[in-house]
Amino acid sequence: MGHILSSAHVHTTFCDGKTPAREMAKTAYEMGFVSLGFTSHAAQTFDPGYCIEPSREKDYIKEINEIKKEYEGRMAVYLGIERDLYSCSNPKDFEYFIASVHYFEKPDKTYVGIDADASDLKKYVDEYCGSDGLEMAKRYFSLLRDYVIETKPAIIGHFDLVRYNNSRLNLYDEESSVYRNMALEALRVMFETNALLEVNTGGVGRGYMTSPYPADFLLKEWKAWGGEVIVNSDCHNAKLLDAGYSQAEEIRLSLGFDHAVRLSANPEKGMWERVGL
Ligand SMILES: [Zn+2]
Ligand SMILES: [Zn+2]
Repeated sequence: MGHILSSAHVHTTFCDGKTPAREMAKTAYEMGFVSLGFTSHAAQTFDPGYCIEPSREKDYIKEINEIKKEYEGRMAVYLGIERDLYSCSNPKDFEYFIASVHYFEKPDKTYVGIDADASDLKKYVDEYCGSDGLEMAKRYFSLLRDYVIETKPAIIGHFDLVRYNNSRLNLYDEESSVYRNMALEALRVMFETNALLEVNTGGVGRGYMTSPYPADFLLKEWKAWGGEVIVNSDCHNAKLLDAGYSQAEEIRLSLGFDHAVRLSANPEKGMWERVGL
């Protein structure tokens, strides 16, 4: 049985994480991680408590680069970001980025969180999607699809994040063929960019979700197309650095995956490497 021993998706006190970056690295090292990628929420002009303050971006870059040096030869540390569609940061300032969509933009240029307050999202669906949950899901997948096609990220972040509040609001039927087809169509287009599809255990780790993103039917098709997956904890607290990984491993085994991709233990050999199950 293989062990991932890595996460390319972790948050710190630079954004909405609970653990300072150095402490996160120390915990990862003590857990035997071979690599760790910091991915604070990239700077944006709204929802300031959530992301790196634009004026602190350079401090983030400096500190992660220092940590990278401190662990050189012991654990490979990478400077990444989780970049929302509406972020104002430049992805070129980082070694890699995760493309995620966390918001819908309203006509007045204010934003509503997709995995934030359920009643706010419900209001958005009522006001802007004709109370139709499938319309909301369609909008989400087309935003993510266009964003990935345009920016070609290394990693597609929590692909079916709309499940988060659907599990609270029951906005649409996740088993319906209409929903499944729209998700699969978007995923198929993204497959062409060669991005890694993230198996994100953050929701499971924090007890918000019963299974990782994305749902099994999506992973199954992704595998059939020959797509690669990366297992990430989307961790906001060092205690949860590998939370949900055993469940993700069971799912991958049941779907016939024989490996995943992780951040490379040896950056000189490239940024990504395969790890067997
Ligand atoms: Zn996210
Ligand atoms: Zn995240």
